[in-house]
Amino acid sequence: MRFDIVVVGGGIAGAGIAYELSRLFSVIVVEREQQCGRHATGRSAASFTQAYGGATVRRLAGASRSFLETPPKGFAAHPLLMPRGTLTIARQEQIGRLEQAFALARVSAPSIRRIAPAEALARVPILRPEAVAAALFEPDAMDLDVHGLHGGFLAAASRQGARILCDAAVERIDHDAKGWTVQTSAGTVSAAILINAAGAWADAVARLAGVQPLGLVPKKRTAFLVPLPPDVEARTWPLVDDVGESFYFKHDAGQLFVSPADATPSEPVDVFADEIDVAIGADRLQRATTLTVRRVSRSWAGLRTFAPDGAPVVGPDPEVPDFIWLAGQGGTGIKTAPALSRACVSLMNMGRLPDDLLSAGLTAGDLLPGRLRGSPHLDKKPS
Ligand SMILES: Cc1cc2nc3c(=O)[nH]c(=O)nc-3n(C[C@H](O)[C@H](O)[C@H](O)COP(=O)(O)OP(=O)(O)OC[C@H]3O[C@@H](n4cnc5c(N)ncnc54)[C@H](O)[C@@H]3O)c2cc1C
Repeated sequence: MRFDIVVVGGGIAGAGIAYELSRLFSVIVVEREQQCGRHATGRSAASFTQAYGGATVRRLAGASRSFLETPPKGFAAHPLLMPRGTLTIARQEQIGRLEQAFALARVSAPSIRRIAPAEALARVPILRPEAVAAALFEPDAMDLDVHGLHGGFLAAASRQGARILCDAAVERIDHDAKGWTVQTSAGTVSAAILINAAGAWADAVARLAGVQPLGLVPKKRTAFLVPLPPDVEARTWPLVDDVGESFYFKHDAGQLFVSPADATPSEPVDVFADEIDVAIGADRLQRATTLTVRRVSRSWAGLRTFAPDGAPVVGPDPEVPDFIWLAGQGGTGIKTAPALSRACVSLMNMGRLPDDLLSAGLTAGDLLPGRLRGSPHLDKKPS
């Protein structure tokens, strides 16, 4: 099986890049699981906001918005973004922090505004007044149809000729002048270029390929569902988070999706929710709301994988240029996937970012892996 490009990993990153590249090249995606999207991609909070993440992530989210609002004809059966809004609350002692968050958020999410505690309580009546000394509301924050986006990328890539090979764990990678030979549990694939979209396993895949790892750290985040009493109408509530990033919750099909916003460093493994993290999340929810958690209907955890500087790592490895990184998306890899996929193609093919990403204030040096190895030839932001 000889292809131009082999993509390791069939999560949102691998699916997005396969979609972009299969218009131009022969592409195969190799995925260890029976189905693509079983790891971080299938476990997210499905939230789109331009007011969360570092400056690079916020710009990437902004640059992804038009694709998510208006995907190509036939890409998805349903809208990919649904109105939700985000309400960020602060207790009395957190008001200074909320002001800082507001100043930062206004740059990337101009619709965000201060709202009075009374308005916050009217929007989400289960909130306790003492939990809301001040609040921010971002009306343009959305729910994301992760399944629609991921499935849309994969289906379109397949229509364009890409091969999606599941049950294909990459076990050995060899490199020579012709490119890569990748041995998987489903057979051997060779390709001129290898794209590393292996999520929490991206450093492990680099080691297999003889490429220096980047020091990516997977961090575990827990989520669970709490059934709502029948008299609580939560469908119109925004996602609620606290400015201290200690919990968030939102309505999810008659239940509350709750997370303690944990970020516990982990090995790259298939993680599960620990009872203690669910209990911490339930406690934080009960302190901020009048809800009593009597039952948790489902709990899970996923790995959000971070580079040392917190920004995604995209583009050719500085020492091995036919090894392409598409990793380190942290807690924001779904909402940034459209822009990251385009950035990756452009960095591979032309060594520069697409014009709209440059106009958004991004530079190649914000994303390229060389920044993590102190490479001197990366372009710098204009002063
Ligand atoms: C609880 C939680 C909430 C989140 N909320 C949001 C949110 O609201 N908005 C947002 O934008 N993002 C959110 N995220 C982050 C988002 O889910 C991730 O950034 C994104 O899914 C990463 O995608 P990925 O394709 O890089 O990784 P993954 O989805 O993990 O895909 C990597 C794939 O590589 C495969 N793989 C690894 N090694 C091999 C190998 N050797 N051979 C073959 N295949 C291999 C794995 O099986 C896996 O399928 C959240 C994450 C979590 C855990």
